[in-house]
Parts: sequence; structure tokens; C-alpha cells
Amino acid sequence: MLVAGVFSGATGTADARKPGLADQSIPKRYRGKNVINKPKGFSEKVIALTFDDGPHPQNTPQVLRQFDRVDGKTTFFVIGTMAKTHKQLLNDMAMRGHVIGSHSWSHKAAPTEKEAGPEIWKTARAIYNATLQWPSVYRPPYGILDNRTSKVARQDRYGVILWNKTGADATSKATAKSIAEQVIGGAKPGDIVLLHDGPGKANTTIKALPTILDELKKKGYSFVTVPDMLRRWDSFLKRQEKAKKQPPSPKPTSK
Ligand SMILES: [Zn+2]
Repeated sequence: MLVAGVFSGATGTADARKPGLADQSIPKRYRGKNVINKPKGFSEKVIALTFDDGPHPQNTPQVLRQFDRVDGKTTFFVIGTMAKTHKQLLNDMAMRGHVIGSHSWSHKAAPTEKEAGPEIWKTARAIYNATLQWPSVYRPPYGILDNRTSKVARQDRYGVILWNKTGADATSKATAKSIAEQVIGGAKPGDIVLLHDGPGKANTTIKALPTILDELKKKGYSFVTVPDMLRRWDSFLKRQEKAKKQPPSPKPTSK
């Protein structure tokens, strides 16, 4: 069911909020930070597949169907202009329990000082207008962490999310087979994987997706969103930190 008023252009209390300020539901240690590496030793069999550059009216619904089939969740890093155009689709993605992250308004590599703020804020507004949820995570176009948009994202307390594995699906040579092998081969617990559902080569990615999901599932993996992954990393790190603080427990005495 759609939430009433989603398409009414959201005015009222929500608008009093600073435009673009991220939802703060991810663990504190990741807010306003670049997220590049997973914690060493993390061993839960979960993987966060992520899809950039959508939502796309042909590709994205197929991604949704595939994740429904395996009962998995994913994260879409959407481009603001696309999010605004495909509002109903974006709402559907969120209603199915997937996470909508920001991928900037227009995918610029080197925005000016004046452009950088709106790249974040307009995208946040488009996501909110379609889903009634502010984004908590941002993925910089081309993975560029040191441009002005990434700076605004950090100031607005987004988790700025890269990836530690890629399907290499944006290259001209990519085939469904190469993408599947790239993702499945050497998959490790806690991976965040870069894929695409936007225009361009993404229909090849879509062809690879059933194999990727089936093979990883066979290996015992389940599919989680990026915020869910960050919470799991955080609990893992907290357990480690707690163990370090505690004095070593006395060895059981043998009789
Ligand atoms: Zn992109």
C-alpha cells in the first residue's frame, strides 16, 4: 500500500528540516564518514549488493523481482533527476524494504562550490517526496571522495559509501558471464558490491543477476542493505572493543 500524501509534494513539518540533512539511523561511527573498508575478521555470511545510476523503468523492476525471488534486500544509489522522474517506481522500491541512497542530482565529477549543495539537497528532497524517507547513505559518482559534493555529504552526516568489490559491469567488455564470475568469485562475508541498474550496459547486469543471487545463496549468503551491513559491522566492532577492554578472564584451574 502506498502512503497517503506521498505524491502531494510534501509540505509541512518535514520541510522545516534542513534540506539534505541525512537520516541518522546508521551507526554513529559511520555518520559523516567515508566508508571504504569492512572490519577485519567479519565473518557473517551477508553481502550487500548495490545498484547505481537508476531508477530505470526497464532495469530496476527486474532487479526488484530478482530480490523478491530470493527474499533479499538491496541498496539503490539513485540519481536525483531519475528519482524525480520515476517517483512511483522509487516508492515501490522503498515499500519493498530496499534502501534508497543518494548518488547526487546529476552525477557530476567536479561540481562547482555553488552546485555541490544542491547536488545533495535536491536529491534528498526527491527521495523524500517519493518515499517519505530521507536518505542516510551517499555514494559519490565515480567514487570520488575529495570533490565538493562528497564534502557536503559528509557535512550533512551521510555515510559516504564506496565498495570493496565490483561487478566491473560498466566496462564495454562486460558480459553477463564476466559480471557473474567477478561477483561470485572470491565473495567474502561483509562485502559491499558495486553494480548498476541505470541506463547504458545495465541490462547485461540484469542478465547476470539470477546467477549471482543463486550461486551466492548456495554458498550460504543472504542479501542485506548497506545500512543493515553497517549495523552488523558496528555490532562486530563493539564486541571486539568490549573484549579488548575486559581484563583477561582467569584461566580455569585444572584439578
Ligand atoms: Zn554512477
